[in-house]
Amino acid sequence: MACPLSCRHCRASALHEPLPGELTTAQAYRLLEQVAEMGPPNPVLVMTGGDCLSRPDLLELTGYARQLRLPVALSPSVSPLLDPRRLKQFQRFGVRAVSLSLDGARPETHDRVRGVDGHFHATLESLRWLLEMGFRVQVNTTVMRSNLTELADVAALLLKLGVPIWEVFFLIEVGRGGALEAPSAADNEDVCHFLYDASAHPLLVRTVEAPFFRRVTAQRRANPDPPAAGPLYSELTARLAQLAGEGGRRPRPQTVGTRDGMGVVFVAHDGAVRPSGFLPMAVGDIRERSLGELYRDSPLLRHIRAADFSGRCGQCQYRTLCGGSRARAFAATGDPLGEDPGCAYRPTLDA
Ligand code: SF4
Repeated sequence: MACPLSCRHCRASALHEPLPGELTTAQAYRLLEQVAEMGPPNPVLVMTGGDCLSRPDLLELTGYARQLRLPVALSPSVSPLLDPRRLKQFQRFGVRAVSLSLDGARPETHDRVRGVDGHFHATLESLRWLLEMGFRVQVNTTVMRSNLTELADVAALLLKLGVPIWEVFFLIEVGRGGALEAPSAADNEDVCHFLYDASAHPLLVRTVEAPFFRRVTAQRRANPDPPAAGPLYSELTARLAQLAGEGGRRPRPQTVGTRDGMGVVFVAHDGAVRPSGFLPMAVGDIRERSLGELYRDSPLLRHIRAADFSGRCGQCQYRTLCGGSRARAFAATGDPLGEDPGCAYRPTLDA
């Protein structure tokens, strides 16, 4: 799907024009019917991209999803296509949730990642009017080495704006993200402990491609003091306390039981079905088999759901709760069932 931005961490590589093979409107209608056939309960349909607003038929598709009683969330790019008048139309068609990306608390950080000067301020302005319009607003932040020390400032900014949900993506080195340095496993561990603390604020915190956040949450619930947390954790936690206080409630991170291929599935612009948007391994095509059949029958998805992993993830007592990022395992080793090198946990030593 097309997108006017050139974000440094994007899973795609060249998106200024619609990609060849993009689903036609009729094929997209059929996809919506296939999604509805998987319920009840009906899955939530997240329209993402590229920029989902660059599809001229998106409003029509949203209307059809509503007829099928599918909840729809939008994840658009901040561009001239995102304006209150257009979003009002989607609101009339039943859309309640919108997520935008914000990758730093300072213009220079975010604008450099997005490749557009002024994008930080445009994003903040969009967040303000989306909140005023009554949307359930989520901010997505990609964790990279270059913005690690800014995460507390991002959390404080969201609290100030009144954004209720923060979804933190842990970089997978695919697509344009391959040119960036992902944080080390030790840094990921510190960020997860920080996010656990941040959830003591009125901010629903969840992660993408960091299922080990569930392991960290389980460990912190058993022992509130972070075990062996490093200097990054101390720095982020102190900074958030300085900017927004201690939070004042019991940490409540969102660690639902879904993960790539288990309750979550990605359908690409051309109908290819993948365990996640960051795992470029198709298990089939919705033009040839229905989404429900592919989801149920794919050997890869069945292995993922059975927590049938190798390496540390295969030996880990948290493999059902966590399971590791299948996308990061694939990016690192070519094996989608291998161990997640972004996790610092050593099950054979710690079990
Ligand atoms: S070793 Fe794998 S399964 Fe265990 S906590 Fe780490 S990522 Fe999760």
